[in-house]
Amino acid sequence: MNCFMCKGHVKPGAVNHIVDLEDSIIIVKNVPANVCKQCGEAFFDHDIVKKLEAIVEQAKQSKAEITVINYYDNVA
Ligand SMILES: [Zn+2]
Repeated sequence: MNCFMCKGHVKPGAVNHIVDLEDSIIIVKNVPANVCKQCGEAFFDHDIVKKLEAIVEQAKQSKAEITVINYYDNVA
């Protein structure tokens, strides 16, 4: 697999996914992703995106200013 941005080599890894909302920030750590070695762009699989959306939705309910979540704590 090659990067859609720069055509560099993409390798499996993990990234921190940051959601910047108007009055809060949600950080999901250790999200499995394919990361470009050249430009650092991260690509998520479809099922990972679905899980991320669910985690972020849940985090929004807490109304905390900053929420830090470990991806693996939320995936059974
Ligand atoms: Zn790239």
